[in-house]
Amino acid sequence: MIKRKRVVINLSKMIEQGKTIGIIGGGQLGQMLALSAKQAGMYVNILDPNPHCSAGQVADELIVAAYDDQQALAVLAKKSDVLTYEFENVDLDALEAVAQFTYLPQGTELLKITKDRILEKSFLQKHGLKTAPFRAVNNSDDLTKGLEELGYPSILKTCQGGYDGKAQYSLKTVTDIKEAKALLEAGPCILEGFVAFSMECSVMVGRNADGEVAVFPVSENIHRNHILHESIVPARISSTLQKKAQEVAENVARALNLCGILGVEMFIGKDQEIYINELAPRPHNSGHYSIEACNFSQFAVHNRAILNWPLPQIELLSPVVMVNVLGQHVDGVKQLIKQKPQWHFHDYCKDLAKVDRKMGHVTILTRDVEKTLAEIKTTKVWD
Ligand code: AMP
Repeated sequence: MIKRKRVVINLSKMIEQGKTIGIIGGGQLGQMLALSAKQAGMYVNILDPNPHCSAGQVADELIVAAYDDQQALAVLAKKSDVLTYEFENVDLDALEAVAQFTYLPQGTELLKITKDRILEKSFLQKHGLKTAPFRAVNNSDDLTKGLEELGYPSILKTCQGGYDGKAQYSLKTVTDIKEAKALLEAGPCILEGFVAFSMECSVMVGRNADGEVAVFPVSENIHRNHILHESIVPARISSTLQKKAQEVAENVARALNLCGILGVEMFIGKDQEIYINELAPRPHNSGHYSIEACNFSQFAVHNRAILNWPLPQIELLSPVVMVNVLGQHVDGVKQLIKQKPQWHFHDYCKDLAKVDRKMGHVTILTRDVEKTLAEIKTTKVWD
């Protein structure tokens, strides 16, 4: 194998094995980050309000406190050599305040941009990247004007705080306006023109402080009720489009001066153009396949990036299908463990299984994606 030439610009901030990573948030993303970090020889501290949280079970220390508890965050920061987060709704002021106590390689600018749909789309467009057309909507007049300009169908979303299709409303005809207006009470909104797409995709991209970039293959994402159901990798699109999608993700990473991992959610338009839907400044559900299917997982790359370790070139070792396990699937999936010795069953060890709550996922390496999709269907667990 030919060794790649590496130009070492600045490794002064490289954080060595045996040091401590502090993670704000103890959900499944924090758990998988922690597991990967432990494997690499790091200590891990977690901050989460739930004493039974997923990540707390695999970490060295769990600080039980609210995400915006400044005192607790300061304790976490002081105990950690590097601080990161597993979700984007971190309190920005609190994070800024504790940045003085430790190394925060992701900074706060990335969060500021990705927390707000208007800031995010404006940033992307400013950097020549395509998004759905949009208008800021703060009142009924803005909504009427926005709909005149963008037409139907359009989607009204809150600028901040929505996920998995929550806090958004599809407007198909003028009769939908009345109901959509209720969303305006939740705060500033964005009206997005509907992108006619043939597929929803995402690309995970990592970058370290030295500017090295690691791009993952393109994941084709199938949603049910706005929640990710299956990811298929490689996405069933042309190699030209795959390359284009990876380039888009790399461009976003460079434009953002990214340090860490970022999920770039995209629409493959019916016009064959790529539109960015959303950015997730953290590991992403659609990147879980990388644990088994790639030479390095999204979690390993995030840790390496924030520790300022050199980044690897990502290789897909096998085509793969990832299926999410929500609360309503847990019992059925338990039965499958006996029947499917080749499947990888992940369980986040959450204390309570609720409908639509992400409880785990299943990863299936395959030589025949269509056959695997049919096999998943045959189980009837996800009907
Ligand atoms: P989001 O919370 O923004 O990721 O939206 C949830 C889902 O709604 C997406 O996965 C799409 O299926 C759909 N969606 C959101 N925005 C648009 C848009 N501008 N055009 C078409 N579909 C959209």
